[in-house]
Amino acid sequence: MDTKRTDVNKLGEFGLIEHLTKQAELKNPSSVYGIGDDAAVIKSSSGLSVVSTDMLVEGIHFDLMYTPLKHLGYKAVVVNLSDIYAMNALPKQITVSIAISNRFSVEALEELYEGIHQACAFYNVDLVGGDTTSSLKGLYISVTAIGEVEVDKIAYRNTAKVGDLICVTGSLGAAYLGLQILEREKQVYISSPGVQPELGESKYLIERQLKPEARRDMINLFSKNQLVPTAMIDISDGLASELFHICKQSGVGAYIEETGVPIHPEAEQMAIKFKLDPITCALSGGEDYELLFTVRPEDLEKVKFMPDIYIMGEVVALEDGIKLHTKGGNIHDLQAQGWRHF
Ligand code: ADP
Ligand code: MG
Repeated sequence: MDTKRTDVNKLGEFGLIEHLTKQAELKNPSSVYGIGDDAAVIKSSSGLSVVSTDMLVEGIHFDLMYTPLKHLGYKAVVVNLSDIYAMNALPKQITVSIAISNRFSVEALEELYEGIHQACAFYNVDLVGGDTTSSLKGLYISVTAIGEVEVDKIAYRNTAKVGDLICVTGSLGAAYLGLQILEREKQVYISSPGVQPELGESKYLIERQLKPEARRDMINLFSKNQLVPTAMIDISDGLASELFHICKQSGVGAYIEETGVPIHPEAEQMAIKFKLDPITCALSGGEDYELLFTVRPEDLEKVKFMPDIYIMGEVVALEDGIKLHTKGGNIHDLQAQGWRHF
């Protein structure tokens, strides 16, 4: 498979950092100084700065048996940018820290950084620093993203109001089903390594798992339409669990129509193949990196005509709880089963 394998010790720590980051060009005016000094230098905007960090651990958050390193690099960046967009902010800079065992060659890390640089180019963010160290076992990646937002545009989780509309972007459930397919093929491979994986017809679902995108387009759309969500969160753990966060932190309840929950048709079909309930996959699947947000009722006309936005329900009083109105006509408490890695 690997034709060339260069040991990282050949380059040394500084040589490796130089090698992996040499193509990091600064694109944003606020990135004053990037890699190379004790700290990166960022020019403050007149608005607010937002900062978010996520750490990914091999064997916990990703499985290198079916995750190409390039995709992993891309996804590690995207999931952080998604957190910045979820504040209605625009990411400008990232730092990337890695801990690597001696299993990883320079070529392997080049692949990881290819994905990182690709995400930086696509989302117009600058890689301005990081840290490189060794680990006894496995790969660790921590990405920190820094963004900017005007003071009157920031969207917190704790500011949803009774009467607001509950909206979601895109469609849900696909990333979870993509993961189920990859896990299934991994088991097939473990029991009979010669068998080729059957991934072809599930390209969309697998891509949603391995190479998700963050909804920068929605933040731009909000801005163009002068819409400021009253509250917002990105969907990393599943719609139900994220809705619970907004409700708990805002001190409100929610009423959701099952018919309003967008599920991709391929996700729906695959759920049925796996004998899973499609709505449960959409509500609790996670890793979709869509945006869940609330808007004032007077903004209905705005959101109604925006592409790829679905109005699912309404914010209600705390004592009314968090309810799902099913297709069958029943109303019951929404179950939140976020993913726990512990
Ligand atoms: P220090 O000893 O001050 O921590 P380092 O030698 O770790 O400095 O890093 C030198 C420069 O390279 C710094 O600008 C740092 O932010 C950057 N850097 C280190 N590791 C990485 C990495 N994995 N990705 C991007 N930049 C990195
Ligand atoms: Mg360092």
